[in-house]
This record gives sequence, C-alpha cells and structure tokens, in this order.
Amino acid sequence: MVTVTTQPCPETKYNIKCPYVRTPRFVVVHNTGNDAPAKNEAAYMQRNDREVSFHVAVDDREALQCLPFGRNAWASGDGRGDGNMYGIHIEICWSLSGGDRFAKAERNAAEYIAGLLRQYGWGLAQVRKHQDFDGKYCPHRTMDLGWQRFLNMVKSELDKLQKKEEPELTQAQVKEIAKKEAAAEFARQNPVYNTIDEVPDYWREDVRWLMNRGILRGNANGKLGLSRSECKAAVLVKRGLEKAGVA
Ligand SMILES: [Zn+2]
Repeated sequence: MVTVTTQPCPETKYNIKCPYVRTPRFVVVHNTGNDAPAKNEAAYMQRNDREVSFHVAVDDREALQCLPFGRNAWASGDGRGDGNMYGIHIEICWSLSGGDRFAKAERNAAEYIAGLLRQYGWGLAQVRKHQDFDGKYCPHRTMDLGWQRFLNMVKSELDKLQKKEEPELTQAQVKEIAKKEAAAEFARQNPVYNTIDEVPDYWREDVRWLMNRGILRGNANGKLGLSRSECKAAVLVKRGLEKAGVA
C-alpha cells in the first residue's frame, strides 16, 4: 500500500498557487523531469512565488498531497482551461533518470490514482495526461514506456480495490451458507412445541390425550419438546388406533 501523506500549502500562498475554488473532474498525470523525492518537489513548489503548482507528488515511498483538491493548480499550461481548472495534478518523481525509483514511483502513482478514481466514482476515462491540454511532452518517461501500459496499471489497481470491497466467496463458504439456510428453513417448517398451548389447536386434544396416558412424556426439562413432524406422526397413530377401535 502506498503511504499517503500531506504537506499542506500555507493559505497565504493560495492566491499564487491555487486561487480558484472548483470541483475536480479528472486526474492529470505528469512526470517531474527531475530527480528529487516528493517532499522536496512539494517544498520547492510551495516556497517559490511562481504560478506553477500541482496537487500531489508521488515518489518511490509516498504520495504527498500539497494542495487541496477543491482548488485549481497551475500545471498543464492551458491558462484557465479545463486542465488547470478541473484536473487533480499528479507529479511522478524521479523521471529524469528513471530506473527502479521511477518504476516504484509509477506503481505508487497507479495505486494512488486508482484510489482517487474509486473515491470520486470515476473510471479510466478520467485519467488524462498533461499533453492532452497544451501538447507538452509530459509525462515524458511514462509515455516513453507506454501510456496504455500505465493505464493498465491503474486498471489493475482499480480491480484490486473492487475485489477488496466485494470479496469473492469460496465454494466452501457458499456450501456453509446453503447448509445454514437449509437448517433455518427446516426449523421454520418444523417448529418445536414445548407446551401443550404451542401445539396447533387441530392436534391439541389428541396430544393432551396422549400425554394423559403417558404415551407422550416430554423431555427431561419438563418440556414437551415435540417437533411438528413428530407431533403429526403421534396424532396420526392415535387417530389410526381410534379408527381401528383400539383406542
Ligand atoms: Zn506536466
């Protein structure tokens, strides 16, 4: 699991870094084009006074949120266009040299983005690249390695999250549930009568007759303890004996 942390931007910088309140509509993926960890990227972005910003920097260790998603960022070079105004901008770190750190950062980004898609009820159509908004070749290394490959990584993380929420039942679990259901159904159809008053009135007098003669004695707890099917059998035997002139 990718560690998610925050390094909040001072509100005094909002007018420069994220002046507009908005509701985000999609994710925009970037590569930093640099070799630095997320906390350095975030600190540098928050410290300078340029209208350049992003929401999250992801490296090989963590996903670091550094601007609120309810505000814009200046990241996709399209002014007050859709990219800057409605994107949640994600910078993937260590992209200059690539290698293992970048590979791990990309995997973390895929997992983090899948979490965002889940949170907002979005799909892969809401994963865009910086290039879509102003043509800049960004996220450069992610595209070099294959954009569709990255989308597939996000998709696979999304599938994992969905599986976690709806765990698949094993066949043994299904059988166990079926067994309990069958037992419950049997209990509903074959209740146990513990007192003479619980016996249905169409059988009550017959059962009383059998009890009075000690033919039905109940159980050790002083209860009748007669299931519906046992009760029916006893009553039918008694009525049969009556018909035969025995009882
Ligand atoms: Zn970019």
